[in-house]
Amino acid sequence: MNDCLFCGITGGKVKGNIVYQDDSVVAFKDIKPRAPVHILIIPRKHIPTLLDLEPADGPLIGAIFFAAAKLAQEHGIAENGYRIVVNCGADAGQTVFHLHYHLLGGRHMGWPPG
Ligand code: AMP
Ligand code: ZN
Repeated sequence: MNDCLFCGITGGKVKGNIVYQDDSVVAFKDIKPRAPVHILIIPRKHIPTLLDLEPADGPLIGAIFFAAAKLAQEHGIAENGYRIVVNCGADAGQTVFHLHYHLLGGRHMGWPPG
């Protein structure tokens, strides 16, 4: 049994506010938004962290970035700019171990990130 929260969302067992999905990628609103637009983009395939990527996952990662650009346009943050973040491991603050890309926009972002 897979008890992964995000596999629950892609599989429909856990309710998510889904804003985009296709054969390989699902995107949904973050439950605790850190910016006016905060969307999580994930592969349907269960990949725990960036460290678990394999060469064959290359097209999948490309699909995530294409989805991100499309979502940025649709949510009105493309023109002013946005940020994509992946937290990998404890020091980065990763809390859900199913690879996810944070798409953040709608406000100015500080640099360097905290
Ligand atoms: P990270 O800290 O990079 O692992 O990010 C995990 C993100 O998942 C956080 O921003 C959480 O707010 C978000 N999150 C946790 N549970 C849910 C959920 N059920 N639906 C949507 N987002 C969630
Ligand atoms: Zn998963």
